[in-house]
This record gives sequence, C-alpha cells and structure tokens, in this order.
Amino acid sequence: MMQVIGKQSGAAFRIKKGQKLKVTDPDGGQVSDMVLFNASDKREKISSGKTLDFEESILITKGDFLWSNRSNKMMKILEDTNGRNDFLLAPCSPETFKIMYNNNEYHPSCFENLYTNLEQYGIEPDDIPTAFNIFMNVQFKPDGKLSVEPPLSKAGDHVLFEARMDLIVGLTACSAEDSNGGSFKPIHYEIMD
Ligand SMILES: [Zn+2]
Repeated sequence: MMQVIGKQSGAAFRIKKGQKLKVTDPDGGQVSDMVLFNASDKREKISSGKTLDFEESILITKGDFLWSNRSNKMMKILEDTNGRNDFLLAPCSPETFKIMYNNNEYHPSCFENLYTNLEQYGIEPDDIPTAFNIFMNVQFKPDGKLSVEPPLSKAGDHVLFEARMDLIVGLTACSAEDSNGGSFKPIHYEIMD
C-alpha cells in the first residue's frame, strides 16, 4: 500500500530481507533522504564512505549496492528512473539553516525528521549517519567545488530498492529550499514483497 510523507516531514519503518521499497517523487523536483540500520543491531548502519569505495563512484544508481559501516550489503538499487542521487552531503539540520541560509528562526529539517521518527527504535540524534539523498542533484567540478542544484526528477520518477538484510528505515521529504528547487513537496513510498 502506498504511503505518503507530507512535505517537510518524515517516517520510519521496518522492512524484511528480500522485501522491496519503492520511493516515488509524485510531483517532481523533490529530494528524499534515507538512512538504514540493521534491525537486529542498530550500531550497523548505512555508510557513504563504504558505498562510494566499493561501488567506485560518487554517483550511486541502478545496479549499485548501499553498504554498511561493517562492509555488508544493506540494499540493492533495482530501478532508478531519474538516475541522479547524492551520497556526499549530510541531512539538512537546524544548523544548516543557520550556517548556510543565515536563518536563526525554527526551520524543519531532515535531521530532526529522521531522529524524531527513529526514536521509537531506540535510535538517537548522534546515531544518524550521512543519508542516501534520493533525487538530490549535487554537481561537482574537477577542482572539487560542489553546488546543490534543483532535482532533475520528474513527476512519477522512482527508485526501487531491495533489502539485503532486515532493516529499520528512516525516510524524509527534504526541508531545504536549495535542495528542492525552492518548493516543498511530498514523497510517496511503498513496501512490496
Ligand atoms: Zn533535507
């Protein structure tokens, strides 16, 4: 059954080894941050460094695996209709909006939406790793300079993942203006056997 993550919010849930998770951008141009934890030992979690190392790329897409800090496969990407994701940048947090946006008011963030939803599984704010940023369009130059551009995803684009172990998943509809082309949209997801 399709689930909706409202704009600037998040969700957390379990999926079993062999189940599939489909994450859809229903309107286009919306990022979704995803973190993964081993359901039987939460100290094992998704690792950007291990994934970029073992997949020998900083652009992770169809056919690639998402690896853990213990060098185990957590998910395989079966389909990716947009093909652009980011695995360099940490989830947007209250500090992101202070430091990057010069905004000292309260601002929703992926970091808050991840740890508040994952709290039910005993996961604390300091446990949150660099997220796999689905549909996020981070461009880079040969000199290493990064820029966050509007997502290239069109309405209905999706990424289909297959779990390679029992997992706790945290998933958001990202809250950062620059990452989402200046407007906030929902994210849809579906767990399938
Ligand atoms: Zn975010």
